[in-house]
Amino acid sequence: MSVNAVKNLSFLTRHLIRRNPFALARAAAMIARERLPAAELQQRQAALLRLTLETARHRLSRYAGMPSLPPGADVFAWLRQHYPVIDKADLIAGREEYYPRRGARRPWWPQGKTSGTSGTPLEVFRSVSSVIWEEAFHLQFWSWAGYSDGQPQAILRGDQIMAIGRQQPPYWLWDHYGKQLFVSTRHLSADTARTMLDGIAAAAPVQLRAYPSSAYVLAQAAERLGHPLRLRAVITGSEPVYPSQREQIERSFGCRVYDFYGMAERIAFAAQCEHGAYHVNPEYSLVEILDEQDQPTEDFGHVVGTTLHNQVMPLIRYRIADRARWVAGACPCGRAYPRIELSSGKVEDQLFDRTGTPVSASIITFALKAVTNVKKTQVAQTGPGQWELRVVPDSGYREADSEGLRDNFLQYVSTKVDVTVRLVEDIPLQASGKFKWVTQEWPGARALAAGGAV
Ligand SMILES: [Zn+2]
Repeated sequence: MSVNAVKNLSFLTRHLIRRNPFALARAAAMIARERLPAAELQQRQAALLRLTLETARHRLSRYAGMPSLPPGADVFAWLRQHYPVIDKADLIAGREEYYPRRGARRPWWPQGKTSGTSGTPLEVFRSVSSVIWEEAFHLQFWSWAGYSDGQPQAILRGDQIMAIGRQQPPYWLWDHYGKQLFVSTRHLSADTARTMLDGIAAAAPVQLRAYPSSAYVLAQAAERLGHPLRLRAVITGSEPVYPSQREQIERSFGCRVYDFYGMAERIAFAAQCEHGAYHVNPEYSLVEILDEQDQPTEDFGHVVGTTLHNQVMPLIRYRIADRARWVAGACPCGRAYPRIELSSGKVEDQLFDRTGTPVSASIITFALKAVTNVKKTQVAQTGPGQWELRVVPDSGYREADSEGLRDNFLQYVSTKVDVTVRLVEDIPLQASGKFKWVTQEWPGARALAAGGAV
């Protein structure tokens, strides 16, 4: 077996392990419960929350001294009364307190990593069971888009399925057991769009799971080529999906876009139902929306979440930068899951490689995962194929870190960009107060964006 074949096999095995009978059974049970009255769902959430708080007391030294929840007490009130809101800075500064085993990971605990786009990258330890739960939540969500297990689907996300320098089709990998066609987003360009569309059509998928920016590029090409590929749904996530992207994707493929919201820390999961509402899944985590004083608000506030399934490293009242507000009333879909309106904190411009092909912001994050000695980064396009990586270095930063970052871009993002690393003292926020981690500063990009490069 070739090295590539072995790599492919281990890649597919990983996916197969996640979509196992446990994940399928958990998804089926959640689908059966999703239209239960809110009070019943809350009872279930309370039981999971009790377990999480108890686990945290035993596993994490930060919570070891917390009083034990008295029997019969309201666990939600107890949580608000005794547990402070924490954030990424707390986890980084207090690794010994907030991580199990004082931050020494067991080899069988999967890792989740944030990309470090808006600060120091962070890892969280996960239990194998919580990884299977994660798959179950996605299976449940896909059912809202009409998907049932065993139907073929295509994937145009961050999966690294082949060498980035490959120049011959196929640019995809068929997972026979999972009935999934993994398509290489890094190879999507004007030259490859038609063969990719043909490849996807040949697999006859009912849905495509994609980064919105990648699905948009593919959809523009499909319309330009008059390609007959039709889909029932496109599932987007990981980046904000803009209305113009949604329209183009729905028009090109004759489908509906179903978007979901999540993050590497996995403290909240919201997904669109068939009526377009984003429902927060109360079985996934406990979500609060809090103002600057950490008080509940009906207005836009920070998303704060408590995990319910990760017994290796529970996160309790963990605040992220994203903002959202509750939507009152009931959804016509009949699910009692609360609805939420998101106000994305992320602002991402479209960058292009030197051939004028758009590069997804989510793909760019791969160059910034697991980097060390870095406080903050920003990726700017400054000319045709010219990108500048601005780095606010931490005290341990060395020249070798710059080389490592440049290598990451070549290996994980694109071979068709020239990246220079520039060390800066700080990266200012936008006038709106938002942090723009991918920024387009080359005037020539306007013509590319308007024309639709692919
Ligand atoms: Zn709904």
